[in-house]
Amino acid sequence: MRRTKIVATIGPATATPATLRQLLEAGVDVVRLNAAHSDMATHANNARLVREVASDLGRNVGVLVDMPGPKIRSGVVANDEVELESGQEFVLSSGDGIGDARHVATTLPDMAKWTRRDDEVYLADGAIVLRVLETLGSDVRTEVVRGGTLRSRKGMHLPRAEAHVEPFTARDALALEMAIAAKVDFLGLSFVRRAEDVERVRARLPKRGMRPALVPKIETAAAVDNLAGIIAAADAVMVARGDLGIQMPARRVPLLQKEIIRACNLAGIPVITATQMLESMTRSPLPTRAEVNDVANAVLDGTDALMLSEETAVGLFPSATVRMMSEVAEAAEGWPHDRVHPAAIAGADADRVAWAVAHAAVQAAEDLRVAAILCPTRSGKTAHRVAAFRPTVPIAGISTSPQVLGSLALVWGVLPLLVPENREEEPLRLALAAARKAGIVRDGDLVAVVFGATGPRTGSTDCVRIVRA
Ligand code: PGA
Ligand code: MN
Repeated sequence: MRRTKIVATIGPATATPATLRQLLEAGVDVVRLNAAHSDMATHANNARLVREVASDLGRNVGVLVDMPGPKIRSGVVANDEVELESGQEFVLSSGDGIGDARHVATTLPDMAKWTRRDDEVYLADGAIVLRVLETLGSDVRTEVVRGGTLRSRKGMHLPRAEAHVEPFTARDALALEMAIAAKVDFLGLSFVRRAEDVERVRARLPKRGMRPALVPKIETAAAVDNLAGIIAAADAVMVARGDLGIQMPARRVPLLQKEIIRACNLAGIPVITATQMLESMTRSPLPTRAEVNDVANAVLDGTDALMLSEETAVGLFPSATVRMMSEVAEAAEGWPHDRVHPAAIAGADADRVAWAVAHAAVQAAEDLRVAAILCPTRSGKTAHRVAAFRPTVPIAGISTSPQVLGSLALVWGVLPLLVPENREEEPLRLALAAARKAGIVRDGDLVAVVFGATGPRTGSTDCVRIVRA
């Protein structure tokens, strides 16, 4: 049984009931809808489709809407492709207009205001490098330092300007509205720079009812500087290696990945490792050795989830890619984890009790080789805490709330199980019944049950019981 979760982005290649079914059967735990592309009606439809297919298969699958954030792009170019040569001049301008080998438009307003002579500007997601020569009114004249192929609407970076762009864009507002209406489980926040960027989005969520968990993506240099605050404000985090490796030298990304994952493990929130994990499988039926190692190493770093982007959105072998990722992750899980120590986890007193109890449950569960650790939970926190210790035995997160189960779809090792609301029956019996039905517990098995016994207060974990099913 694989413990690491898989997030798969769907797109034109995969947004059909049949393909989606194959993807979920191949092992996808969370489906990502990338709101940087397509219209919101399509995403809303796809969210509904995912729910339908998952429910057909009797699975709890999470849905993540990834909001585009203030990503600056260059504009459309003629024939969708132009070649820039090193040494030539090239002009950037705000606004629309079709570009060619001499100039291109950008989505950044007041571009000239945020550039100085000798600033570097990156086009084509970092492949092309320009140096600013001068500003001419609202245009910026540059020299191409490193040439390359520029296609329409590619990511563009101007480190100086990025500090000034409004973090929540009009398109983010549309995506947020769609995500709330579609009751999705997770919202990806692109290009956040500080904790306030997360808090501002949280303030826009409805005060009651289904609220998506917020997943800031660590993909700017500022976010790396403000990592602790962003993690404290987040429900989960994504190591967004694609843009991170453009905003800073790519050689820094491997160690940052380890640092971000460890910080999330210690905060008890799930972390996704994203981008180019099995990139070559977009066109090839087999990954490279380096990619296989990369997937395995992310698991060894302690990631909760692994993400696929182009591989499943536009790739030729979407479900084979998911199966490959699943097999590689499961094999890597055979290596013993460094277990975090509960004393290393910061927090208030009540939290420290909860962490210690979760740790004790894991210890007892392994000493006794129980069939499973069951976590009946109101907020999901108990399951998060147990999972943080990476037990070798299965974990079930058990809840009456589809929202809580959806949020557990990202958490390492946690099988989300729905139980019916039933005030007559003891929660312990309901949990055991759900685990039996899911096939993780059989009559007579020893089982650990971890829960909060302090009444209606959510988020407390203060009891562990060992029972026979
Ligand atoms: P993106 O984010 O795919 O939306 O750009 C992930 C990344 O940058 O790695
Ligand atoms: Mn990105």
